[in-house]
Formats: sequence, C-alpha cells, structure tokens
Amino acid sequence: MTVPTRPPRVAVFSLGGTIASTNSPGSSGAGVAPRLGAAELVTAVPQLQAAAQVETVAFRQCPSGDLTLPDLAALAEEITARFADGVSGVVVTQGTDTIEETSFALDLLVDSSRPVVVTGAMRNPTLAGADGPANLLAAVQVAASPRAEGLGTLVVLNDEIHAARFVRKTHTSSPSTFRSVTVGPLGWLVEGRPRIALRPAVLPRITPPANGFPAVALLKTWLGDDGRFLDSVESLGFAGLVVEALGGGHVSAQMATSLEGLARRLPVVLASRTGGGEVLRETYGFRGSERDLLAHGLIPAGFLDGPKARILLSLQLAHKADITAVRAAFEEINR
Ligand code: ASP
Repeated sequence: MTVPTRPPRVAVFSLGGTIASTNSPGSSGAGVAPRLGAAELVTAVPQLQAAAQVETVAFRQCPSGDLTLPDLAALAEEITARFADGVSGVVVTQGTDTIEETSFALDLLVDSSRPVVVTGAMRNPTLAGADGPANLLAAVQVAASPRAEGLGTLVVLNDEIHAARFVRKTHTSSPSTFRSVTVGPLGWLVEGRPRIALRPAVLPRITPPANGFPAVALLKTWLGDDGRFLDSVESLGFAGLVVEALGGGHVSAQMATSLEGLARRLPVVLASRTGGGEVLRETYGFRGSERDLLAHGLIPAGFLDGPKARILLSLQLAHKADITAVRAAFEEINR
C-alpha cells in the first residue's frame, strides 16, 4: 500500500498592492486600496490546497511604492527563518509597481537555494478577469516545485517565470506587463506544471544590513541634458548615484564634466535608460561616451538596469562599502 505524500509547505507573505485591493465597504466610488491579507487571498483560491500546504503571513499592507529597503531586509530575515523551519518555498504577494526592485533585493538578501516567488496582479479583485487568483496559484505551484530550486528569486505572473535580476514592468495595465527584455522568461507554467527552460548563474548573497540605508539617487538623462540636477546630489544628502544614460551609456558633453566631478567623491554607477542589454565599455570615444565616463571613475552597471543597480548600490552602501568595494560588487554580479 502506498502512503499518500503530503504536498510541500509553502509560506505566502502578503504586502498589499492591486492583488489585495478592494473598495472600502459602502464607498465604491472612492477607488480601490490594499485591504486583503494573505489569509483572504489564499482562501479565495481553493485549488491551492492540492498544490501545497499553505501558511500565511500578513507582512505589510500598502501600495508597493511605500515599501522600503528596511521592509525588505526584515522580510528576507523572516523568509530565512521560515526556510529554517522546514518550509519548501515562499511566495510574496505585493504591488506590481516595484516588483522589479523588491524581487531583486530579495534575490540578493535571502541566503537559500529554495524558491522565493514574487507575484501580484494587474486587475484588482473587483474587476472582471482579475488575474490575482491565477497568479497566486501559479506562484505557489512554482514555489512548491523542486525544479525551481537554485534559480534565485523568481517573478511569476501571466503563467511566465522570470528571473528577478532581469524582469521589468513594461506596461501600465496589461496582464503581460512583466518582461525580461534581455533574455526572455526562464520558463512557464502549463496545466499547473512549471517548466524551466533556462537556469541563470547563482548570484552572490548580501547579509541583510542591520543599520540604516544611505540615500541613493536614480537619475535618467535626456536629450540636451545640461546636468544641473547633479549639482544638488551631494547637498541633498545622497551617498551614491545611478545614472540611466542614453543608449549604450552616453551623456551630453556638458553633463560629463559634472558626472566625473561627482564620481571622484561618491560612487556613480552608469546604467542605460534603454531597459535591455548591458552598458558598453570600449566602443565610443567622444566626450560623454561610455569610454570617457568609465575612464573618469564611473562604475558600469553591466546588465543591471537603473532601478536594480540602485538596489545593489544601496545594499553595498548600507554595508559601508567604499568606491572600490562597490566596483567589485558590480563586477562580481556581471562575471
Ligand atoms: N499601485 C499598485 C502597487 O504597486 C499597482 C499594482 O499592484 O499593480 O501597489
């Protein structure tokens, strides 16, 4: 006689966002806001019972733009504690606006090969075709799967499985908003089965910082930018800067002078505003080109886009890394 095996334990942490957003009772004209916790989200999807033994934690309840790096450091500690307690996988539900940043922070902060899967919804529970229940079910199916081990933190929506380090929100309202422009998704789900087509390299881990996070700015440059914002970076108290430059990593000649001055005093990371590929290192030779900026101390973000580079820089500075150590951290992730 075969003894039926119990499905794996999966912990679901809720943080708010559209997936948890409803009208307040009696005021349907005021717009939806995060009101549902993990237990209510899970109860609404009975199919979860076949996929996993689900346990719930209502961790935060906010629009995702209100989440902070201290929240994510605390979440990483709680996830690690659950893994130590025997949980096989973790799902985080939250607002989609910042999933590209939060998932990458968790990727760096959670020291485990077990799956951490972040999900959300584009259509809130009051709308026809709400995608939250399907996304939650898919996320739990991935988190419960041994195939998802060792992939780093994943983002699962619309039956696609993305690596946190590559994924971006690319559309304001489409359920297929999440894209990994440079590599495509790692895999997908079919009939509830996760299929992994690509396995990314293992990322270096960063211990969750115990103390405060220094402020790090993210600036996107534009046609004819004279760089006047740069004059305020230090006086506003920023300890580091990520600049989303044009194309392969270019700024105007005028801006180059200010950027290079800044890079002598604090870490300045060069990313691209294109949202795909990686910054160049050795092609263009004009004033403000990637060669010029890198020769004057800017640190290449590699394949990390601006928001993800800002997460890595923030975590480095929270550990009091100097410019040399920050450079080494970006090199290591791009090895
Ligand atoms: N504003 C919401 C949030 O990020 C959007 C969403 O969840 O899709 O919290």
